[in-house]
Amino acid sequence: MSLIESIEITPIAFRDPPLLNAYGVHEAWALRTIIEVKTRDGRYGLGESYGDEQTISQLQAVAPSLIGMDVFHLNAIRNRITAVVKQPDPKSGLEIAPGTLGATTVPRIFSAFEVACLDLMGKITGRPVCDLLGGKVRDSVDYSAYLFYKFDRHRFSDDPWVDRWGEALTPEGIVEQARKMIEQYGFRSIKLKAGVFEPEAEIAALRALKQAFPDHPLRIDPNGGWSVETTARLLPQFDGNLLQYLEDPAPGKEAMGQVSALTDIPLATNMCVIGNFDLPRALELDAVQVILSDHHYWGGLKATQELAYVCKTWNIGLSMHSNSHLGISLMAMTHAAAAIDNLSYACDTHYPWQEEEVIVGGKIAFENGAVRVPDKPGLGVELDREALAVLAQNYLTCGIRARDDVAEMRKYQPDWSGKIPRY
Ligand SMILES: [Mg+2]
Repeated sequence: MSLIESIEITPIAFRDPPLLNAYGVHEAWALRTIIEVKTRDGRYGLGESYGDEQTISQLQAVAPSLIGMDVFHLNAIRNRITAVVKQPDPKSGLEIAPGTLGATTVPRIFSAFEVACLDLMGKITGRPVCDLLGGKVRDSVDYSAYLFYKFDRHRFSDDPWVDRWGEALTPEGIVEQARKMIEQYGFRSIKLKAGVFEPEAEIAALRALKQAFPDHPLRIDPNGGWSVETTARLLPQFDGNLLQYLEDPAPGKEAMGQVSALTDIPLATNMCVIGNFDLPRALELDAVQVILSDHHYWGGLKATQELAYVCKTWNIGLSMHSNSHLGISLMAMTHAAAAIDNLSYACDTHYPWQEEEVIVGGKIAFENGAVRVPDKPGLGVELDREALAVLAQNYLTCGIRARDDVAEMRKYQPDWSGKIPRY
């Protein structure tokens, strides 16, 4: 009943607005992969992961080796995946040498299957995934309004689709975007993706947000777009409790450590601490005070809980990072967050930026900026196979095979380098 009989891996593409960041701009289509792990009795468990060609080929290379394994035996599944991704598969032409694909390969591939197995375990036992993680400590999980500078439309796409958010290139545009997003979703925290314009212009947007939403905690994330010197110059402008935390102002642990020594503002990261291997040096430097976890690359929901214990031990704050994603990921994040007592901030999500879905019932609802933890068995979502077929067809026709914000930005600005730090 709990043995894996088959696995389906379906790459999908969905429309993505032209959101700006330190590297460039989002392309017209975002890629993901939907993972279905099936048992003989007709049950299936769902996972959602990255949709770049490399991840898809790694998922496909691993899947056959998991057939016949027990979905409850996650440790054995992780060991099997570790063994497979370290061996080049002559048939697929994969060259997976240790180190060449980064230390997050095994956690990234394992996570996709772990979530699907947890969904199945929940369906088999009649329990929600959060119960398999020790039970929920909250009934709903807070997310933040994730604001982006953006163009009005994809000027170089053949697709006539235009998103519903409009242009946001000024402080007024950002406040307007926040107003729309908060009105619709009820978010009670705000994050501004930065590193796009001169830092002073972005701080002006923060001040405008503070004036418009005085009770909403604010964060800014320049994605390592500022040098240590620039950040040092800017720090006095953040006084008066303007920021809840400052996310990845400068790139790398050493630079973050230098900034950290200059300020009491908590520094957050999803860039310089992306796995356990980053923790010793980051702790040594006191480089970060908040870690933004992400089960997609940290090794799954249980590994996210293990990170939470580390954060508790070292008195580090914890929240969640996101990439463009759909509802399976949102539910996985919600179950993990529900089962972590020291989650200290509202989680990030790109979810409002996407219109499409692959789950029955369409988009998941937010109430006061939060997602209710479902009490149905498993993740609490079912696959809409018609919707999946549409998004799978998008993948085949969209022409994108790996996210490339730099190349997309060069269409607008041919001399764009995408190098950080820019300022
Ligand atoms: Mg970030």
